[in-house]
Amino acid sequence: MKTDILAPGRTIGILGGGQLGRMLAMSAARLGLRTHVFEPGAMPPAGEVAGMTITADYCDREALASFASGVDVVTYEFENVPAEALDLIEARVPIRPGRRALAVSQDRLREKRFLNGIGLATAPFHPVDCAAPNAANILKQAMEAVGLPAILKTRRLGYDGKGQVRIEDTGRIADSLASMAGAETILEGFVAFVREVSVIAARGVDGRIACFEPGENVHEDGILRTTRVPARIDRGTRERAFEIAAAIMDGLDYCGVIGVELFDTADGLVVNEFAPRVHNSGHWTEAGAVIDQFEQHVRAVAGWPLADPIRHSDVEMTNLIGDDVSDVPAIAREIGARLHLYGKAETRAGRKMGHVTRVFGPATSP
Ligand code: AMP
Repeated sequence: MKTDILAPGRTIGILGGGQLGRMLAMSAARLGLRTHVFEPGAMPPAGEVAGMTITADYCDREALASFASGVDVVTYEFENVPAEALDLIEARVPIRPGRRALAVSQDRLREKRFLNGIGLATAPFHPVDCAAPNAANILKQAMEAVGLPAILKTRRLGYDGKGQVRIEDTGRIADSLASMAGAETILEGFVAFVREVSVIAARGVDGRIACFEPGENVHEDGILRTTRVPARIDRGTRERAFEIAAAIMDGLDYCGVIGVELFDTADGLVVNEFAPRVHNSGHWTEAGAVIDQFEQHVRAVAGWPLADPIRHSDVEMTNLIGDDVSDVPAIAREIGARLHLYGKAETRAGRKMGHVTRVFGPATSP
């Protein structure tokens, strides 16, 4: 195994070449660290800023071996890398955050059991195997267990609200099952939240933890639209958000940045899910804090000390999704707006093309 603290000039491997990988590569470069990206798709956004891009499938053992032999540590911006690829990489270099964080977060059922196991509240849930011969009965039992309305979600491979169907009444059993095409799912009871918040936090190789100010998120059609910081939460809720992030990271012996999505309810915070990587709801840190989530992640995985994530401004981050990019000329003229475009050639509906963070003024207390 290679050494733990990467000096400038050493190389971080990034699995996945999307915008998160791009922003990680930019931050690594600022610290004098090199990056190599592994991405199956052509022309990945991260490829334009990384030192090297390997374009190959996650099943290509030769390409994976060559990637692993050229880097000192591997991180990821994409969670659904096959286990065999990770085994092959891990035999050569450390993967940060570690395999357990990835395995737990990849599977909604395992994730919820882990969270409940460390004493954290989640939505009520019940597993439903849509391929089971008695799937309709199982779903009916699940509805009784978690209550209605509820959301049927695939256990794996769901993102941005994909692989989800909301169920309002028992009349929807057959078509809800049909829409899941035999997948393993969980039925989640609907959480009556006042607002959605998320906390972006980091844990270093030494176990030290640093949390950014929680942000308040608004989703549209399951996709994050805006994050506003500070969130409109009281001090106790803010402290609880930090405790939750710390409990998850300690429970996973975590190294790197994590994004923890929370529902703020009348009965306190409920964990929706966590992402073992930099997170869209942490993009505001570029314009609102002395260090951004990307540099913090690079510091953690490179074994560097974490920075104090001091926030200096009140901000709102807005995703530019699909045709929103047509607003770019006007945004570019706006005072106090920091624009970030991902260099994606093709604009598609629902595709994240960039984001803008608007700075309102000096940081006020939440
Ligand atoms: P997810 O992909 O699971 O994060 O879901 C995307 C969005 O759907 C969340 O950010 C919420 O706005 C909404 N949502 C998901 N699960 C629930 C739930 N159990 N109760 C209420 N809203 C939910």
